[in-house]
Amino acid sequence: MPCCYWKKAYLCTPMETMDSYKVDLKSMTEGAVSHRSWVLEDAFFSAVGGAEIKQGNVNADVCIVSHQNDCWDVEMTLAGTVKVECDRCLGLMDQEIQASESLRVKLGDEANDDGEVVTLAANSGELDLAWYLYEAAALAIPIRHVHPDGACDEGVIRHLRDEDRDGATDPRWAALTKLKVES
Ligand SMILES: [Zn+2]
Repeated sequence: MPCCYWKKAYLCTPMETMDSYKVDLKSMTEGAVSHRSWVLEDAFFSAVGGAEIKQGNVNADVCIVSHQNDCWDVEMTLAGTVKVECDRCLGLMDQEIQASESLRVKLGDEANDDGEVVTLAANSGELDLAWYLYEAAALAIPIRHVHPDGACDEGVIRHLRDEDRDGATDPRWAALTKLKVES
């Protein structure tokens, strides 16, 4: 097998894909404005590996403004659809999301993220946007998200209701018993 086969296989790994979300802030000149955009698809969500969103199709636009003294403002705007678990039946459902989040980024001795200001190690100056984009999408999911009326998996709902009523413990549904079901 030619060695280039392996190289090609390596280049197709998720890690390689995720490199496109890294932005070298230090290379921006002072006062510069940089626009980036991505479509976050299933490969993105599976590479990030977050708990809430496994799949999706979200347009993400990012605007980065470079200020004096190694300081940047990052504005993220997201719109699209993600697949999340329905609160009632645990089946996957489409959830429309729209999000607008901003970050202030600085350089410091140690990398840090206090929720409002992200500090990058001064010798790096590279911001990996992947997790911030994921987080912005995840924060935009409503606390309660359910299928439209009638679209839930009624088999699951029935079992959950039966258990709620007679307290029977069927091992097949044991994992679902924590779930509160509306009656
Ligand atoms: Zn449902």
